[in-house]
Amino acid sequence: MTRILRVNPLNPSVDAIHEAARAIIDGGTVAFPTETVYGLGASAFNPAAVRKVFEIKGRPSDNPAIVHIASIEQLNDVAAPVSDELLSKFKILWPGPITFVLKGNGKLPKEVTGGLDTVSVRMPAHTVALRLIEAAGVPIAAPSANISGRPSSTLASHVIADMDGKVDFILDGGNTIFGLESTIIDLTKERPRLLRPGAYTVEELSKYFEELDTSDIIISANEAPPSPGLKYKHYAPEKRLVVARDAELMVEAADALRGKKILFICSDETAKLLPSGSMRLAIGSRSDLYRIAQNLFDSLRKIDRSDAEIAVIEPFPERGIGLAVMNRMRKAANMLTADSVESIAKLLG
Ligand code: AMP
Ligand code: MG
Repeated sequence: MTRILRVNPLNPSVDAIHEAARAIIDGGTVAFPTETVYGLGASAFNPAAVRKVFEIKGRPSDNPAIVHIASIEQLNDVAAPVSDELLSKFKILWPGPITFVLKGNGKLPKEVTGGLDTVSVRMPAHTVALRLIEAAGVPIAAPSANISGRPSSTLASHVIADMDGKVDFILDGGNTIFGLESTIIDLTKERPRLLRPGAYTVEELSKYFEELDTSDIIISANEAPPSPGLKYKHYAPEKRLVVARDAELMVEAADALRGKKILFICSDETAKLLPSGSMRLAIGSRSDLYRIAQNLFDSLRKIDRSDAEIAVIEPFPERGIGLAVMNRMRKAANMLTADSVESIAKLLG
């Protein structure tokens, strides 16, 4: 049975944290909010508990989980020692929506690391997550709290839809702050390498990691993926999703294909231009990409709950957090883009 506890995201009750931490200590599983998305956590040093997390998600065992810590001291429990220079950067960027791939120290079970000699580590900037890790007294291995391949969870209702009855606890702290998974930087190679863009932007991070290699954010199908998770399908709704060339094309298509079961996911600005009667989901103003990011995964989940046959989504500028938004959007659409009304029409049955 799953216990769902509502918590104040800024000041969670001691009792709720204590109960959920108890479950972690006892080898259970707890879904909890972070500033990125909801995580599904287990003690990083309990192989059986981590196996449960992977089973619940249907996650392949070669796709390692991020280990979440609540203090810099805990880094020593999970990773090999890092230089003072790196440590000072971690102290600036953590707690925060950024994960670093580091050399492991050989202590974590293979269930967490996928058998790699590296480990990905993050200190989340969310009171509920930090209190939970502190109270459990162990680092928490936590992939995103969604069924593998589905959009990540940004609301407790998403976690409930995917795993009610399978996890021991769900801490419901409301909407997550950024709504996109953490930035991941691999620091185990000569040159720091961006594996996944996130809320910390490339522009910001380049100040801390001068030589940051951003070349493989979007990888082609025949290249060996730099991170195990990148080869798997991601964030995908069950129905066909396509990224429109631009907002103008969406308006044009909505007009030309009136009466067709198409859901238009778009900015508030575009929503106003669509002809009446077209199915639309406005996800925020074009001038506020943080709002778009926060609503993106929820909108992807709504596609399958709507009676639309296909969904068309508006692209946003690939700057700042927009880079991460477009990275998730393109993957969710399986890289499918439409540059004409005909190409949208062709997707309809
Ligand atoms: P999620 O837990 O759903 O946010 O996904 C975590 C991502 O981090 C996946 O794409 C993993 O493949 C990736 N990851 C975790 N550990 C490592 C590692 N040691 N090296 C490279 N990528 C990793
Ligand atoms: Mg995930």
